[in-house]
Amino acid sequence: MQRNPECIAIDSAGRLIVPNHPVIPFIEGDGVGADIWRAASAVFDAAVSKAYGDKRSVEWVEVLAGEKAHARTGEWLPRETIDRLRQCRVAIKGPLATPVGGGIRSLNVALRHILDLYACIRPVRFIPGVPSPMKHPERVNMVIFRENTEDVYAGLEWASGTPEAKRLIEFLRTQLQAEISPEAGIGIKPMTPNGSKRLIRRAIQWALDHAGKSVTLVHKGNIMKHTEGAFREWGYELAREEFPDRVVAEKDLKGDAAPGTVVINDRIADSMFQQALLRPEEYDILAMPNLNGDYLSDALAAQVGGLGMAPGANVGDQAAVFEATHGTAPKYAGKDMINPGSLILSGALMFEHLGWNEVAGTIRHGLEQAVRDKIVTYDLARQLEGSRQVKCSEFGQAIIERL
Ligand code: NAP
Repeated sequence: MQRNPECIAIDSAGRLIVPNHPVIPFIEGDGVGADIWRAASAVFDAAVSKAYGDKRSVEWVEVLAGEKAHARTGEWLPRETIDRLRQCRVAIKGPLATPVGGGIRSLNVALRHILDLYACIRPVRFIPGVPSPMKHPERVNMVIFRENTEDVYAGLEWASGTPEAKRLIEFLRTQLQAEISPEAGIGIKPMTPNGSKRLIRRAIQWALDHAGKSVTLVHKGNIMKHTEGAFREWGYELAREEFPDRVVAEKDLKGDAAPGTVVINDRIADSMFQQALLRPEEYDILAMPNLNGDYLSDALAAQVGGLGMAPGANVGDQAAVFEATHGTAPKYAGKDMINPGSLILSGALMFEHLGWNEVAGTIRHGLEQAVRDKIVTYDLARQLEGSRQVKCSEFGQAIIERL
């Protein structure tokens, strides 16, 4: 059959136009990246073929970043990679090591900033059979929307004792009457109405598209009133202005919410950590600033069995990059040992983003069946009695046999 691989495009309303044979760039990643990509890409191709025969397929194109890029081009994040990601709109990546002591910031943070991937989306759901420290991990079924570009991650920091920190402290003391020790290191936490609202808008839209019951704004606004507190206010304002008929504030609720309506509420971050442990079944979609999201997404992933199986996506209005949520796990690199589940489930999320829901469902089903049959990699095998420990690539094969 004649195939015409093309890039994914975006129409004037911001919707994806996905050809039948899209070109999708992948960044293999450092450390265990090559192991998990080999296993995961075999699953993706088998699942697309299972769902659509030869009517649809993916044309994977490797783009370089991280150690491989540095070794071949002398750059950690080549211009060509960024151009390709911009052009193709949707990509998938393995983990990238952050060079220690070099002049470069985290490549992941750089990618998110350059492509303006402002929403980090992490669905957290229990897969039956995965060992968990919780009595009822099946009660956790949430999707985290973490703001990716602002907050204390904006990189505005000055070390204690530097001329920059001293100048800033002097300004704050003399111009704004702020009492700060002259020895302090200084970090700045910028948060904007637009930055917060575009994230919360996505979370609400996800809730509406996926029959979600509620969106919870998770903030520390009782202490940081003009950043985290403002995030909460901007969230309610957005819901009132843009979704007046579809979203109702918890405080205005009389009885149950009408079918098709999403409830918006908010929780203080520390309380949310308790709620996630004690009453997880009451929560659905969570939207939060960057730092809260960093903490809460790993904590929730641990509740359902750890990072080895947690999928993630970084999404903006112009591009989306799906990624394994764990790091490069260097001690396992090249050993064909590590769990490829995170990248495989991130792929499922990517296919859902393309509207190829059959592929996403097939992948999730295959992975769940493999775990149910207790065919697992070392990380799960060491906690799962009666399991058969397999290699990374064999886990991929076990999924393919169960698609
Ligand atoms: P890590 O690479 O995630 O690994 C820490 C430990 O977590 C591993 O030794 C292993 O534990 C377990 N683990 C991680 N992935 C696993 C998987 N797929 N299956 C089973 N177990 C898994 O964290 P790190 O050592 O802190 O970070 C290493 C490098 O990765 C750093 O350069 C960091 O900057 C980078 N990083 C990148 C990303 C990203 O690209 N998104 C994210 C986080 C970190 P056991 O030894 O107990 O088996």
